[in-house]
Amino acid sequence: MNYEPVIGLEVHVQLKTRTKVFCGCSTEFGMEPNSQVCPVCLGFPGALPVLNKTALEYSIKVGIALNCTVQEFTKFDRKHYYYPDLPKNFQISQYDLPVSKDGYLDIAVADRTRRIGIRRAHLEEDAGKLIHKEDKSLVDLNRTGQPLLEIVTEPDIHTPEEAYAYLTALKSIIQYVGVSDCDMEKGTLRCDANISVRPEGSTGLGTKSELKNLNSFKAVKDALQYEIERHKETLGNNEQIVQETRLWDEKSGRTIAMRSKEEAKDYRYFPEPDLPPFVISQQQIQELKKSIPELPQEKKLRFLKEYAGLTEKDAEILVADKRKADDSEEKFKLWPDKNKKPVANWYIGALTATAGTLNLQTYELPISSKAFLEIIELVEKKQALSNLAGKTVLEEVVRSGKTPAQIIQEKNLVQVSDESSLDGPIAEAINENPKSVADFKAGKDNALMFLVGQVMKKTKGKANPKILQDILKRRLTDA
Ligand code: ADP
Ligand code: MG
Ligand code: ZN
Repeated sequence: MNYEPVIGLEVHVQLKTRTKVFCGCSTEFGMEPNSQVCPVCLGFPGALPVLNKTALEYSIKVGIALNCTVQEFTKFDRKHYYYPDLPKNFQISQYDLPVSKDGYLDIAVADRTRRIGIRRAHLEEDAGKLIHKEDKSLVDLNRTGQPLLEIVTEPDIHTPEEAYAYLTALKSIIQYVGVSDCDMEKGTLRCDANISVRPEGSTGLGTKSELKNLNSFKAVKDALQYEIERHKETLGNNEQIVQETRLWDEKSGRTIAMRSKEEAKDYRYFPEPDLPPFVISQQQIQELKKSIPELPQEKKLRFLKEYAGLTEKDAEILVADKRKADDSEEKFKLWPDKNKKPVANWYIGALTATAGTLNLQTYELPISSKAFLEIIELVEKKQALSNLAGKTVLEEVVRSGKTPAQIIQEKNLVQVSDESSLDGPIAEAINENPKSVADFKAGKDNALMFLVGQVMKKTKGKANPKILQDILKRRLTDA
């Protein structure tokens, strides 16, 4: 039997407010353990929470960006469980009236657009951090009470690649909205993945497992792939899937059972008596909506419309990160021609490669838009620099801070295009490679490229390859 995977993701993002969600403690990262705590986030009896208005506004903005219905009436609930990282023994979360619900996010996978339903997005407080030593465990409560937005999808995802694309798109949108860094390595984005399989063509839901300990988007993809196979194999053997939570073990590339449904918790949700319900007016929602910038999907469509020559893939790469989008757009605007393709190519190609070698992002590189475009112009329009020399100049501008002109002069990189200067090396190449000459004459076009390569070598890459090709072709055909 063929099985179809069914996947739903639960993502927690840490909202970057200055203070915690129910008290005034700082949220700054990397401080002395237990230095950012107060009676409220330590759960002392009698201490009362007060909702951080910014955390609520950030949550609403994400809801809007994810096409959700923002609820006009929202409230908080206590979710009970006992664990040493949770001083109150309950977490303030939202149960039946989350900030927003019923949204969607469109993702593109393999040239197909798929709409993933967002079931709900609710605001809650984070727990502390446990640090396990050899013979003891320590707890740091600085993170306790930091605002988290939990975003839950419908079980609309059907492949690990779609899960990966969803996470990438979600991260991009939330970064655009500007309310979280969404950095899995820093723990500001965390993801649990629910997965089941069902006979192809059926619509019910199979028994699921919930995967935890996923430390990167790639881990989510790999763990889902493993788990899909495990489900198929189990059912194929006429065995039952047990509903359980499983941990992804990166090293062995397997999932390991953690707790089964029998041990599942009853959270005993009830309304948080120390916080009032919150009413969110349409006017407030409209105000917040205005503060949301153009989102990646719209930006992509606009780029394609306004900047001729860009492919869909180009636009997609450029808009994924807002800073990259802004940076490349500045360069498109400064490029005098209507066709922006050369700029896109150099941005996605050489500039990105240069940034990669320095472990930086393109927009962090110390090179002005003017210098960047000057190099492109020298290569693509004036043909004064070879492609390779252009890349060298780009790297040198970044490394040394000198102007392209200075570097071209110092390194003597000007491309040789006049025929007389190329005469010598061309004659040498022809003399030294009679076999290639014969091959070309016999109709093997590749042989010409070999000869071009030989002249390039002799000129240390400075010959203009297009012109060189023309000259060689002419001479070999005439002769
Ligand atoms: P739980 O109560 O165990 O957290 P929920 O019903 O709240 O389960 O769903 C949590 C997530 O799991 C959602 O993203 C949902 O889409 C997904 N999900 C629920 N049931 C299944 C299933 N049978 N297979 C795959 N995903 C599922
Ligand atoms: Mg769950
Ligand atoms: Zn506090």
